[in-house]
Amino acid sequence: MGSSKVLNNYGSFDVTFKYGKGSVLTDVNNKKYVDFLSGIAVNCLGHGYKPLVNAIKKQAARQIHICNYFMSDTGTAYADELLAVTGFDGVFFGNSGAEANEAAIKLARKYGQLNGGSKRKTIVTLERSFHGRTLATLTATGQEVFHPECFGPYQSEFKTIRANNYDDLKTAFDGTTAALMMECVQGEGGVILLDPEWAQAAAKAAHEAGAIVIADEVQTGMGRTGVLLASDELGINADVVTLAKAIAGGVPMGACLYRGKADVFKAGDHQSTFGGNPLACAAARVVLKTLTSPGFLDNVKKNGEYIRSTVKSWNMKCVTDVRGKGLMTGIQVNCDPVDIEKKCLAKGLLFSTAGKDTLRLVPPLNISKKEIDLGLSVLKSVLVYY
Ligand SMILES: *Cc1c(COP(=O)(O)O)cnc(C)c1O
Repeated sequence: MGSSKVLNNYGSFDVTFKYGKGSVLTDVNNKKYVDFLSGIAVNCLGHGYKPLVNAIKKQAARQIHICNYFMSDTGTAYADELLAVTGFDGVFFGNSGAEANEAAIKLARKYGQLNGGSKRKTIVTLERSFHGRTLATLTATGQEVFHPECFGPYQSEFKTIRANNYDDLKTAFDGTTAALMMECVQGEGGVILLDPEWAQAAAKAAHEAGAIVIADEVQTGMGRTGVLLASDELGINADVVTLAKAIAGGVPMGACLYRGKADVFKAGDHQSTFGGNPLACAAARVVLKTLTSPGFLDNVKKNGEYIRSTVKSWNMKCVTDVRGKGLMTGIQVNCDPVDIEKKCLAKGLLFSTAGKDTLRLVPPLNISKKEIDLGLSVLKSVLVYY
């Protein structure tokens, strides 16, 4: 790593990986690590998953990229499958979560323009949210640490309200609101669950004020929480859902799904050179097929419950809360989470922290019981020292 000239934005650890199989990674010194991180909730089918690798190989030999002046058979097939299973009317494909959210913000602004003119432009987001690193999605992100002065000026017509707070709902939306945008589980904020009743009330209030509801499912979608779309389970009638991270199993891809009154994009409104690239779509088709295969999501739920009940059963002094949904788990601690993260890494377990005080476990969705137990044994052996 010492000689690497790659912009070190994440304060990287001094580990260089060369190989992965299932939910186990191997570094250049042949040391093995259980992967409870999945490249930040991306490698949903783990590493070296045969059907995924084979589909990518086959597609690469046939057609890697064509521009969006035309359609590719693979892209059209994936779009049809995705819309059929999610119940949306249309989709814009991009390459990342930020890009999917940018599309959603542009869509909301156009919706606002068509339904109230230049007055209806405000995007309401939640405190502790994370929506991406482009300027608009940074502005949308409800955490001050993401708004250093050096990158300003940020966008206007964004405002935040507190999650799970009914007082804030009273004044949150009016004729100037274009959209309410929220994560269903706040991932980067610390794996914070939304109270379904509050989320439904917020969505209803936004709709009643004439705004649309955008669910940022870049991390929760699809399958991560044990259901295909967390927004469906939350019952918020989202008009727009954004996806990225896991949807193509590790190949960069983002998507902005829209339906009903949010179907406002016309040809030429928004584009992306690589968006809906056939290679990414070929990978995404395998992911979708696997997620929707019988029993797969039930297993995600079961394994998530198993992880949380096991960690709770340890009754560790340093653990103040264990929460999550499906294979998205937050372990809140009363000590430095990064210290725990580093010690686990040294002992062969990979995960990340989220928020100020939370360990975030987002293993591959097809992780085996054996791999889970292996990872949990490392975590336990470290937590006992705090
Ligand atoms: C990761 C994430 C993003 C940003 O995705 P990128 O692919 O890094 O641009 C946006 N929203 C949520 C909820 C995320 O977890």
